[in-house]
Amino acid sequence: MQFITLLNKLGRWLEYLLTGQSDFRLHTTSTQRVELIEHDLQVKEALRQVRSYLKGKFSIQLRNPIVVRLDRPQTKSWKWRWTSRFRHVGNYYTQPMGEMPAHMITILPGLERWKFQAVLCHELTHAYQSERALLNHLRGYREGMARWVEYHFLLDHEHPQEARKLERIEDIMLGRMLHKILAYEKEHGRRATCQWLEQLSATS
Ligand SMILES: [Zn+2]
Repeated sequence: MQFITLLNKLGRWLEYLLTGQSDFRLHTTSTQRVELIEHDLQVKEALRQVRSYLKGKFSIQLRNPIVVRLDRPQTKSWKWRWTSRFRHVGNYYTQPMGEMPAHMITILPGLERWKFQAVLCHELTHAYQSERALLNHLRGYREGMARWVEYHFLLDHEHPQEARKLERIEDIMLGRMLHKILAYEKEHGRRATCQWLEQLSATS
């Protein structure tokens, strides 16, 4: 029996190598089902959950249309790629759509659901900043706030090690704003932290 299982695995592995199909990866862990985000329907469901999370935990709600595409995020400047340590799995920009600007989000296909949603949290925080002109001239804080939301999503979804990774990023260009925001939150609570970030926007 074990031999057959092994053959099966080998077959799938070969198939994966030859065709690049993700089917193989879905079956590699039999005890724990891993869902990889590869279709628009999955994106839609993942987005729905993330929006409800953001609303419940951070009072982050968006009015404008959101378009999430599964694709390799466009590479910006080398400087940016270097400072993001080539971890670039998602990006965000706005694009006019009818009367109002739409939030355009690109995320690498094939990420595990939790990872996809963490990135989505991050990019939707940028969308929120854009709608409310939050932290307009404070790029470090803008990035810090997006990482802060992503950080909490990871903790709340039992990925503490990934959250710690975010904490450890040392950003020469953007500073260590996540630490600053976390320190503020520790002392004053989440609600006050959101208000503080809004106030910073008003004075920037
Ligand atoms: Zn960002």
